[in-house]
Amino acid sequence: MKNQTHTLLKNIFGYDNFRPLQEDIINRTIEGKDSFVLMPTGGGKSMCFQIPAMVFDGITIVVSPLISLMKDQVQALKSNGIKADFFNSSISVQEENEVINKAINGDLQLLYLSPEKLISVSNTWLKQLNIKLVAIDEAHCVSMWGHDFRPEYTQLKVFRNSIPNVPFMALTATADKSARKDIEDQLGLTNSKLFISSFDRKNLSIEVRGQVQKKKKLQEIISFIKRRKNESGIIYCLSRKNTEEVANHLKENGNSVAYYHAGMNHEEREQTQTDFINDDTKIIVATIAFGMGIDKSNVRFVIHYNLPKNLEGYYQEIGRAGRDGLPSETVLYYNMRDFVLYSQFADDGANTAMQKEKLNRMLQFAEAKSCRRKILLSYFGEHLTENCGNCDVCENPPKDFDGTILSQKALSGIARMKEKDGITMLINVLRGSNNADIHSKQYFNLKTYGIGKEISFFDWRDYVIQMANLGLIEIMYAESSALKITPIGWNVLKGEKTIRLTTPISPNEKKKKPNVIRKATEGEANQDLFTALKKIRYTISKEEKMPAYIIFNDKTLKLMASDLPTTENEFLAISGVGMSKMEKYGEEFMNVIRKFKSAAKPRKIPTTKLTFDLYKENLTPKEIAEKRNLSITTIFSHLSQLYTEGKDIELEKYVTKETIDKVRIVFNQFNQKIELKPIYEKLNEEVSYSEIRISITLILKNE
Ligand code: ADP
Ligand code: ZN
Repeated sequence: MKNQTHTLLKNIFGYDNFRPLQEDIINRTIEGKDSFVLMPTGGGKSMCFQIPAMVFDGITIVVSPLISLMKDQVQALKSNGIKADFFNSSISVQEENEVINKAINGDLQLLYLSPEKLISVSNTWLKQLNIKLVAIDEAHCVSMWGHDFRPEYTQLKVFRNSIPNVPFMALTATADKSARKDIEDQLGLTNSKLFISSFDRKNLSIEVRGQVQKKKKLQEIISFIKRRKNESGIIYCLSRKNTEEVANHLKENGNSVAYYHAGMNHEEREQTQTDFINDDTKIIVATIAFGMGIDKSNVRFVIHYNLPKNLEGYYQEIGRAGRDGLPSETVLYYNMRDFVLYSQFADDGANTAMQKEKLNRMLQFAEAKSCRRKILLSYFGEHLTENCGNCDVCENPPKDFDGTILSQKALSGIARMKEKDGITMLINVLRGSNNADIHSKQYFNLKTYGIGKEISFFDWRDYVIQMANLGLIEIMYAESSALKITPIGWNVLKGEKTIRLTTPISPNEKKKKPNVIRKATEGEANQDLFTALKKIRYTISKEEKMPAYIIFNDKTLKLMASDLPTTENEFLAISGVGMSKMEKYGEEFMNVIRKFKSAAKPRKIPTTKLTFDLYKENLTPKEIAEKRNLSITTIFSHLSQLYTEGKDIELEKYVTKETIDKVRIVFNQFNQKIELKPIYEKLNEEVSYSEIRISITLILKNE
């Protein structure tokens, strides 16, 4: 058995090793038992049912709510020579019949269905199939406790009970403990074993930036993108309007960008998505509607323009970066305003208490002053023993100090302003600013006016937000964001309680460590070849109307660009190349590599060296030029260069003393600027370019 599954992994998918847990899950499934697979996005869940599907002589049913992804997955399977198809609302009646026939005739190894289609056909032709395995993808959709509940999923239990002896596999990237139990119950899994792989995506850096104002945020994003030229990324926004605004702004700054949201029509969305997948558009600004249906492996950054609603969503969204395992960056921006807005949404909807709780956890994460990855993973039940070293907190650990007096200054200011003003006014009063508002309200008479002069506006802002987070004050968003003192705040003000604050770090001070992971994983891939391979992949993807990454992903292309395979065996040894792809695409890609290799070779010997070798064989410049098929001017320029480098060249013999003198005069007139043309013209075109070059070389050398 071990050999068979390994052989399939290598021959079909081109991979050498299973990832942790995959093999156990596959073996258990082949034994006919139920499993629950919890792995992060990009963790390799699909392999867990695809390999058994090829071992069984029957059909594997895959239930997935993501219609757009089905097509891609089926295409990917077909490109590996696997017999797969899908059945959902996007296909015509005629296509439906074709699929049904193939399924009944035993011509399919895998059949993907949407839950509603599965329910509607479970009592008709599905009964005639020799079903050997059922995989429920995105299984969290069955749970009311999840964040993406789909009513159709609850009917899957009836289907499960109709084929009690067939193994079921539930797969998801997101389910906390209570949801897990619920999913098992709802799907009627029996004695299922839970497999949780590590959710730690070490290649993703995590950064959170709080309370950045809109204009600043846009500026930051623009310069972030600028520093990552030609890299793919996703920017998530809260509203449709936002996506358009941000996208247009980035476009004005010359970026390759498009927006995406559910308000666009189907074709527009498809096109936007396809362009992104094919690298025709580099950056997508989208609502969270984007990403479910794509599996692009080379997304290098994900930016959240607003606070996500919960950690599940956040983790899933940042998980779309770096699926190929290469280092990728994530940045989360948030404002208290986002939080308040969501709280209001939650008030209107169902499941209010739970949604609010999840939102609170999200905010806690954003405001945390300890390793973010630790917090994130512990939410998913995984406990890191060490700080990650790849998040903003790890890179700039906060320093705390006794902030009691400082807090008292601010609190006293709020009290004296009768809790009627917002943060900006408070800081202006504390810093003793002199503006119209302060004058009209006569705040310069307050005792607190100017008691915080020595602290910058930026730092005050940070402290006041910290005070709000610590529960000393509340920001009343419904009352023009006026600051109110809480009971704890009064305790601090009266000196009954001490408080610790942390020193703010401005973005400019943040030290950015060189990215260790980036250095370690970027192989010796030749960038030019990598680009050429991407080009041929792009051409093929257009011809075959197939997303580029399905042909080969970036990681596989990078390996090609570093290992330079030119024989079938070498090509098959590349991770990600299976038999079927080798046959289909091998020649085309190897041709590019071969061309690259042969073009690269002569370049390795410097051209001047070839000239020098012939020179040493006593060939005249004219003979060298003929032999090398180069112009005589070029040969003289080689000889000049060699002479300058100190090689033994008798340059003097190619030019007379008088010529050198003529050139020297003009050369000096031009302030010894090494430009041949003006000198040539000034000398009435009587001295050849070669002679001028040689003369200058001799003049400079002998000065
Ligand atoms: P998930 O469904 O968990 O999000 P996928 O099944 O799409 O993840 O797998 C993510 C990527 O990892 C795919 O490109 C897949 O081919 C690749 N992959 C899966 N298993 C392995 C493996 N054992 N070795 C190398 N790559 C793998
Ligand atoms: Zn960390």
